[in-house]
Amino acid sequence: MPRPIALLDCDGVLSNFRLSLSKLVGVAPEKLPLDYLKDLHPSQGWVVDAICSANWCANMEPYPYARNLVERLATKYDVKVLTAPFAGSPYWFDERVAWLKKHMGIAAEDVIFASGKNKKYIYGDICIEDNIDNLAPWREFQQKTAILWHTGPVPQHTRHLADQTGIRIVMNPNP
Ligand SMILES: [Mg+2]
Repeated sequence: MPRPIALLDCDGVLSNFRLSLSKLVGVAPEKLPLDYLKDLHPSQGWVVDAICSANWCANMEPYPYARNLVERLATKYDVKVLTAPFAGSPYWFDERVAWLKKHMGIAAEDVIFASGKNKKYIYGDICIEDNIDNLAPWREFQQKTAILWHTGPVPQHTRHLADQTGIRIVMNPNP
């Protein structure tokens, strides 16, 4: 019988995107909203340029718990990473694949790239993701176990949506 499949998001679950972004823009990590990049003023185009430059993705720090999380899940599941490439970066695909091999021991063939919008189409028996806007559609589409890996205080609308759609919230142990 095939083993069940675990889908793991990368940024916010395995890699500390927030910390790298925080260092880049000089704002404390706890003050950075998840959608910070969506509301950038045109004068902050340099932020996107920096993220799209060589080695930005490669230099992201893994969360201290992440490798252990992957290894524990791997005792029961086929672990695959479901991650969205950063739009506009010519380096992101290769650097992410290399990062996942180096820090998590995950082979390139187990890395699935899909935009946030399309993540819901990817099958898994369990999905761990830090963005409710990706996870709620996934849960509705797949009807499988969905875990929101959350950093910081949980906004009311997030808790409400999680309750409504049957998503479990787990707090990131190293915010
Ligand atoms: Mg994420």
